[in-house]
Amino acid sequence: MRTDVAIIGAGPAGLLLAHLLAQDGIESIVVEARARMYVAARIRAGILEHSSVELLRNVGLGAGVQARGDEHRGIYLQWPGQRHHLDFVDLVGRSVWVYGQTQVQADLVAASEAAGRPVYYGASGVGLHDLETDQPYVTFTDTAKAARRIDAAAVVGCDGAFGPSRAAMPAGTRQTWERVYPYSWLGILADVAPSTDELIYAWHPDGFALHSMRSATVSRLYLQVPNGSNVADWSDDRIWTALATRLGHGHDGWQLTPGPITGKSVLPMRSFVQSPMRYGRLFLAGDAAHTVPPTGAKGLNLAIADVALLAPALGRLVRKNDTALADAYSDTALSRVWRSEHFSWWMTTMLHAAGDPFDEQLQLSQLRWVTSSTAGAAGLAENYAGLPFGL
Ligand SMILES: Cc1cc2nc3c(=O)[nH]c(=O)nc-3n(C[C@H](O)[C@H](O)[C@H](O)COP(=O)(O)OP(=O)(O)OC[C@H]3O[C@@H](n4cnc5c(N)ncnc54)[C@H](O)[C@@H]3O)c2cc1C
Repeated sequence: MRTDVAIIGAGPAGLLLAHLLAQDGIESIVVEARARMYVAARIRAGILEHSSVELLRNVGLGAGVQARGDEHRGIYLQWPGQRHHLDFVDLVGRSVWVYGQTQVQADLVAASEAAGRPVYYGASGVGLHDLETDQPYVTFTDTAKAARRIDAAAVVGCDGAFGPSRAAMPAGTRQTWERVYPYSWLGILADVAPSTDELIYAWHPDGFALHSMRSATVSRLYLQVPNGSNVADWSDDRIWTALATRLGHGHDGWQLTPGPITGKSVLPMRSFVQSPMRYGRLFLAGDAAHTVPPTGAKGLNLAIADVALLAPALGRLVRKNDTALADAYSDTALSRVWRSEHFSWWMTTMLHAAGDPFDEQLQLSQLRWVTSSTAGAAGLAENYAGLPFGL
């Protein structure tokens, strides 16, 4: 097969890139290791930044978020005895939207199928070749066990943290940075109306807790747990009791309403960056190049920002053989990536119990400052609601 751009991975980065390229008249073929249903069902991120929503609207993918998303003006930050609302719209004129990654993925799949764009699900043995030439190609075995080859002008690795693209860059050409945190999140989905109108981020000496939501009838909640924790050790009762304590059930009459838990998982917390995000005709986008701990709600948004930058660069490369934007892609993308890495690390270290009494006092001091100083609050709001693309 021959196409303009071969895309590895049909997650949000891969399918959105294919959509953006198609709008510019650029063809692509997407190769995905997993089955379509598996990709569609993964429960992951849930918050879209202002710029992400603007982009989806501008490219004809905004109907879902408009109809089923929930616009939030800000978040609550709390510690025992205190709850403060930060209003991002007042502070920086930007809001965020609750709209699950599964819904974003469903919208992208629907657009891809409506347009008849080729996506090979269930591909195995995906390999990247001749990346340092201007005739790179991708090989794989399809679900009928047929060997396939895609020749393209560029290959884009949108294959997440465990795909082959990252490692296809020779060792001497790339640098990586990593931080593993000494705690994880136990996440639950529950069939119960959220007990809050906007997300609650709670510092507590027992550990961090987050009350998020997916819809008016589905809540998403998280507890900080030690690394290596097993969901089997967390009964529904134990989870709701810990959430009630950490989220301040009973304080000022606020009630946490428990409900049937429909999903439980443990999510390790990690920061990772690989640089550059380009090697020859291979470009990396999304989790293939970077990972953030979920505290700042940045992972999905960074993937969207990467492909928003990459699509026009590939358009110029393919159509005019003009490499200016492609050459600038890695540096420009990494500038935003490192801002988000810092914000995610900052939110994480401000809110998670680390077992050090001195650190606890620093965290509480930071929380008091962020919730009482307009300058402090605006800094958090600007980063959380997301900087405009290109910054
Ligand atoms: C369990 C979990 C929970 C998360 N929770 C949050 C959250 O609460 N908030 C937040 O902001 N972010 C969260 N994230 C991060 C967010 O989901 C990611 O940042 C986002 O999915 C990035 O999109 P992507 O398209 O770059 O990568 P992915 O969504 O990972 O997509 C990569 C795709 O590549 C495919 N692939 C892998 N290997 C191959 C191969 N060899 N060949 C072909 N295809 C391949 C994968 O199957 C996958 O479909 C979470 C991530 C995980 C894993």
